[in-house]
Amino acid sequence: MEFCEKCGKIMTVKKKRTGSSVLECTKCGREKPVGKNGAVISGSLPNKKKDIVIMQKGDEAIDMPKTKIMCPSCENPEAWWWMQQTRSADEPPTLFYRCTKCNYSWRSYG
Ligand SMILES: [Zn+2]
Ligand SMILES: [Zn+2]
Repeated sequence: MEFCEKCGKIMTVKKKRTGSSVLECTKCGREKPVGKNGAVISGSLPNKKKDIVIMQKGDEAIDMPKTKIMCPSCENPEAWWWMQQTRSADEPPTLFYRCTKCNYSWRSYG
């Protein structure tokens, strides 16, 4: 409860047109800003984490080598290929293929 500094009457919370609230004396109309008692909490909101966009490498396969292999999806006889370390470093990298026609990707099992 807040009391007017001037006349000692009870002050009530009044909402201003701007959206902010003030305390107003019921008798003399004296205004006092709200917030002394923590009514208005200002501060920075927790930063929203930005969505991490992972760009798919290999979407532009211009620099990738091609090989004569049949696509299991569309039977196109040519595909790009690249090596990729999948699991641990002591394991051999896996050979991947991508069809030059339909972009179907598959991996080679040995
Ligand atoms: Zn007053
Ligand atoms: Zn294909």
